[in-house]
Amino acid sequence: MNEVTFSSYLRSLVVGANTQVPVASGGYVIATNFDNAATTPPFCAVMDEIIAFAPWYSSVHRGKGYKSIVTSDIYEQARQTVKQFVCAGANDTAVFTKSTTESINLLANVLANDGGEKLILATDMEHLANDLPWRRHFKVDYACLDAFGRLSLKNVEDKLQQHKGKVALVAVTGASNVTGYINPVHSIARLAHKHGAKIFVDGAQLVPHMPFCMSKGQATECIDFLAFSAHKMYAPFGAGVLIGNSEDLLQAEPLLWGGGAVDLTSQQFIEWDAPPGRYEAGTPNVMGVVALVAAIRTLEANDLEMIHQYESSLISTVIAGLTDISGIRLYSVPTCDDERVSLISFTMEGIDHGLLAQALSQEAGIAVRNGLFCAHPYVEKLLKISDEELKYYHTHDDASVPGLVRISLGLYNTRQEVELFLRTVRRIAADPA
Ligand code: PLP
Repeated sequence: MNEVTFSSYLRSLVVGANTQVPVASGGYVIATNFDNAATTPPFCAVMDEIIAFAPWYSSVHRGKGYKSIVTSDIYEQARQTVKQFVCAGANDTAVFTKSTTESINLLANVLANDGGEKLILATDMEHLANDLPWRRHFKVDYACLDAFGRLSLKNVEDKLQQHKGKVALVAVTGASNVTGYINPVHSIARLAHKHGAKIFVDGAQLVPHMPFCMSKGQATECIDFLAFSAHKMYAPFGAGVLIGNSEDLLQAEPLLWGGGAVDLTSQQFIEWDAPPGRYEAGTPNVMGVVALVAAIRTLEANDLEMIHQYESSLISTVIAGLTDISGIRLYSVPTCDDERVSLISFTMEGIDHGLLAQALSQEAGIAVRNGLFCAHPYVEKLLKISDEELKYYHTHDDASVPGLVRISLGLYNTRQEVELFLRTVRRIAADPA
């Protein structure tokens, strides 16, 4: 299949690809959504599945009614689908949460119960979701970056050595939501395991874009824990997952207490259920899980590796085009397909990031994201500004808060949209006022 055919086929998979939005010149244009790292539109197949499931919608894990049994089966089967999608280990379980953020909070709470003087080794490039929950329960150290903003593997190893077996877990993103860099998580797993630590991978930006396998390579290279969110992979908001070994997840009391999390309770005692139930108190989001499974099936049916190649080719065009525009600064080096997902951040000399994002929307209906992307420490480091400067900008009305503009592609974006984006950036660069 050539690129044009593949591209229009992929575009037909999502809802609302041709929605029109108003622009400043008057009239309407077809919206270009280049903010997929934040949230993707749903697949048509996902919406169809939600409608198809609706007649079977009933109470889950309770009741002997036929629909209740069907609903419960679908919900429990979903754990297998999710695990297979990322080649989880045989002893892994999938706990359904509402998001990656909730999954990481849950894991931090579980591991904190392990006690001891252990610490977490995170990195300088984490989304706050993979930083703050660790800070809440543990002392956290951060592996640092190289001169191009990539994670330094050497520093990961140095830090593991320096902490002499005290690191409980290395918490690292699979792909950055700021630069798009993909981290070599299986090599990091080898280092972590060599030093007696486990590894958690934040899969929010990786899993929607390319095949990912938790159990790749040798046992020492396997990923212990993984989390991701449905709303970044073509299903609606409200469902996420934490995958990990059932034994490891057995250690803790739940984060949420309530019905469904217990095996048996009196007013005198509580016997917690085993994971995953232990961590799913209350009525779970079955519809969200049905949607997540439908999204996974659609991604699998359409060859994620080919999708990755397609998105890589588009982002390479973006990078080449931006590199040619004077006044544009990119915040990551052009790398090969295996080293980035389809997003990149940049700034334009002489124009505030917020105004640039606004101009793209008002002039051409192009949605991008700007700011610090919930990764303040990483953006601070990329921009080489201090905490004091960041605070100053934040608290003084006369100064705009520093930040970047991010373009992040989804599988339904097209080469024409990329060309429109580059033309618009060129026009703004020629006359930033
Ligand atoms: N991790 C990364 C790398 C992200 O980009 C995001 C969201 O942008 C998250 C975690 C948090 O995801 P959610 O908001 O779905 O919890």
